[in-house]
Amino acid sequence: MMAAGMTSNRLIDRLPVVRGHYAENADLSKVTWFRVGGPAEVLFRPADSDDLAAFLSAKTNDIPVTVIGVASNLLIRDGGIPGVVIRLGDAFTDIAVSGPGITAGAGVSNLKLANAARDAGIAGLEFLSGIPGSVGGGLRMNAGAFGGEIGQILISLTVVNGRGEKIMLSAEEMGYSYRHSEAAEDFVFTEAFFRGTKGDPVKIAGRMKKIQTEREASQPVKTPTGGSTFVNPPGKKAWQLIDQAGCRGLRRGGAMVSEKHCNFLINCGDATATDLEGLGEEVRRRVKKQTGVKLEWEIRCIGIPAGPSAEPVIKEVRGDE
Ligand SMILES: Cc1cc2nc3c(=O)[nH]c(=O)nc-3n(C[C@H](O)[C@H](O)[C@H](O)COP(=O)(O)OP(=O)(O)OC[C@H]3O[C@@H](n4cnc5c(N)ncnc54)[C@H](O)[C@@H]3O)c2cc1C
Repeated sequence: MMAAGMTSNRLIDRLPVVRGHYAENADLSKVTWFRVGGPAEVLFRPADSDDLAAFLSAKTNDIPVTVIGVASNLLIRDGGIPGVVIRLGDAFTDIAVSGPGITAGAGVSNLKLANAARDAGIAGLEFLSGIPGSVGGGLRMNAGAFGGEIGQILISLTVVNGRGEKIMLSAEEMGYSYRHSEAAEDFVFTEAFFRGTKGDPVKIAGRMKKIQTEREASQPVKTPTGGSTFVNPPGKKAWQLIDQAGCRGLRRGGAMVSEKHCNFLINCGDATATDLEGLGEEVRRRVKKQTGVKLEWEIRCIGIPAGPSAEPVIKEVRGDE
């Protein structure tokens, strides 16, 4: 508690009172798939969508906000993320089935959603079982695999915008293209409604098993990674260009271009985000030189490079979790 008249430099002291949970200097390397990344200045886990909306409408405009899902498509830099990082928790993990439709909170994992659809005899969501990540991340990235993508099964979704207003959007309003949406960056997706077709749970389970087997055979799924590093350029495969440029197995510090699938970067155990991003940039440089093609990152690199304040210290200061 500060003495009267004193002002604090700590961001957490300038944040609105919430029913959810704030954590200061929260170590994000524990939650990213790469197992790297510096701390969130403040990590916020909203109690529910009303709490999220109240937070966004009450916080001052100078405070940056970043939303993350389960960080399977993120490379968080070693200096961490300034401002508030929002991560949706248990309050956003409900699933409800209605006919061939299925509603899921944005915090639901893709696998859990695919399993629920299978159990309810809803076909068309099988591809999600092979994509690590949450519904929220999938909505932003138009996640897809094995010929399916989120944009094809999405009917509508609920969003809280940066001013704390709740909005319903149709799938068309998301402006989806390959691994991309036109949705405003300040949107936090909270829930989505999907539609599949009637199917036989046994056949659906068979297709999901096949997806899993194929993934395990072709991707380094048991190593810390961030999935496909670069977007496939039109008419080309990023992995082929990377192979052609001689980058398979290329290393930098503890980071390596996977031998198994060379569009995947892996953390061999002691990589930093700087190693991984630097390696990715080196791959881009070599591919450009060798093939003339400029690769674009599919993984989102966010946050600031390492600095003296990057030491992650978990300090829980407020909340009721
Ligand atoms: C082994 C492996 C294999 C993969 N295979 C595939 C694949 O086949 N196909 C594919 O498409 N992807 C694949 N990925 C990438 C990743 O799983 C997907 O992009 C996934 O949709 C990301 O979800 P996430 O919850 O992890 O999001 P994050 O990585 O946490 O975030 C990704 C983006 O979504 C935004 N975001 C997250 N939640 C919300 C929300 N609630 N509201 C608003 N914005 C939000 C974040 O701000 C960020 O910009 C793979 C990753 C790995 C590690």
